[in-house]
Amino acid sequence: MQITEIYKSLQGESTHAGLPCVFVRLTGCNLRCSWCDSEYTFSGGRKLSLDEVFAEVVRVSPHGGLVEITGGEPMLQEREVVPLMQHLLDANYTVLLETSGERPLDKVPPAVIKIIDVKCPHSGEPNTFRIENLDALQPHDEIKFVLSTRGDYEFARDFAAKHSLPSRVNAVLFSPAFRKDASGRRDAAHCLLNPQELAEWMLADNVAGRLGLQLHKFIWDPAVKGV
Ligand code: SF4
Repeated sequence: MQITEIYKSLQGESTHAGLPCVFVRLTGCNLRCSWCDSEYTFSGGRKLSLDEVFAEVVRVSPHGGLVEITGGEPMLQEREVVPLMQHLLDANYTVLLETSGERPLDKVPPAVIKIIDVKCPHSGEPNTFRIENLDALQPHDEIKFVLSTRGDYEFARDFAAKHSLPSRVNAVLFSPAFRKDASGRRDAAHCLLNPQELAEWMLADNVAGRLGLQLHKFIWDPAVKGV
């Protein structure tokens, strides 16, 4: 499979945020989100076999733990990435899959924790979520909405309610997008949507969701790769 990078860092934006995690970042994406922070994955990378990827994961995290399969869009390489996820599960790793949900998810092993980033109207890639993927949801999965406007928030709020997401998955995450040109000293002012405003909207609407900030963006400069 085509791999951009494999490295150990902290998980940044889910209920696993703050935990050590090995990231297996696959090359290539079929979407072009306006706030994308992973454009360097769109091309390049190196071709590695399942055994080579597994060996690298074991090298950086020999005693198990979290492994996140991400990209780009990892499910574009479904034929290779599904056996990889099963192999990692068999070796007692906890496997997270970060995906837009644009590709079918029915072949993903049920024990994998899917973190599905449903694209909102102002992402530049609205209406790309494959609605049939709701049937593949497991109770441990998480649905994430990255928000940059009030319109994005209303879409996420209404989508979550319409599809009863809070009762179907472990978490519904509302996450303000972060400015991709942010560098140097960073704080909440670098979010494209004010987190305080988002919190007030969620409280006013009794949203059964979790406000999440992209932890790694506050710790490391967004321009730094491999963290
Ligand atoms: S799906 Fe992810 S990797 Fe692809 S363009 Fe959107 S944010 Fe970037």
